[in-house]
Amino acid sequence: MKAIKWKWHQLILGLSCLLLTIACNGLLHPVSISPNSGFKTLKVATDPTFVPFESKNANGNLEGFDIDLMNALAQVGGLTVEWESLPFDGMISTLQAKTVNAAISGITITAERQKTISFSRPYFKAGLAIAVRANNQDIQDLKSLQGKKIGVQIGSTGADFAKTLPNVKIITFNSGPDFFQDLLNGNVDAVISDAFATLYAIKDGHLKGLKVVSNLLTEEFYGIATPQDSPYLETINKGLATVLANGTYEQIYQKWFDTKPPQLPQK
Ligand code: GLN
Repeated sequence: MKAIKWKWHQLILGLSCLLLTIACNGLLHPVSISPNSGFKTLKVATDPTFVPFESKNANGNLEGFDIDLMNALAQVGGLTVEWESLPFDGMISTLQAKTVNAAISGITITAERQKTISFSRPYFKAGLAIAVRANNQDIQDLKSLQGKKIGVQIGSTGADFAKTLPNVKIITFNSGPDFFQDLLNGNVDAVISDAFATLYAIKDGHLKGLKVVSNLLTEEFYGIATPQDSPYLETINKGLATVLANGTYEQIYQKWFDTKPPQLPQK
């Protein structure tokens, strides 16, 4: 009788251990029940201070041209995007460190940047322009910037361009919205930055009291950036090609810019 009782104890102990093991395994390896299960996750960085390409809406959700485009091409390529907000200035070093898989943030493709990171095919035709206060009659072109204080965003192509101008005082800001505030306050005389973003912000009332002068200073193309020779580059480029061909790109462009997109080069 005593021997049998001991066996019951052993059995209960054994079963408990088995149940505990199953439960722990379940916690460590939860089964994904997301609708996209089977999709690979792509960690994508963006600086959501660049209307209308990326910003946070009143509910704290990301929105914009880049956000829609990235989500659409990820869907095509069987990827789920996990967004990470980062300051623009840190984007390239983060890609170099490979702590994210990609970045989309109105990033201009430049030869200098291509030395350390890779880019997708161009996905947006852009360019720099000068912005001034709406009542400014002084600054009409590049020449009239001489002797003036120019605001630029640190690490941007606008900052690189300003460095090439003679006799100007460059004031560097951490993010786009800051330099516009200082332009309105009169702390700087002009800003050199991406024309599309500036024109959009003026038009939608975000930037009252400013205007964009002269023609575009440069022609630039935005690309989706990845660490150098990323294995995801091909999927991203194929996804871009698909959304460009099937009308999705045009739909997203219309949604944000109310006009037909221009032709884009392949490379
Ligand atoms: N297109 C500019 C650059 O790449 C600025 C982009 C931005 O401010 N998000 O430098």
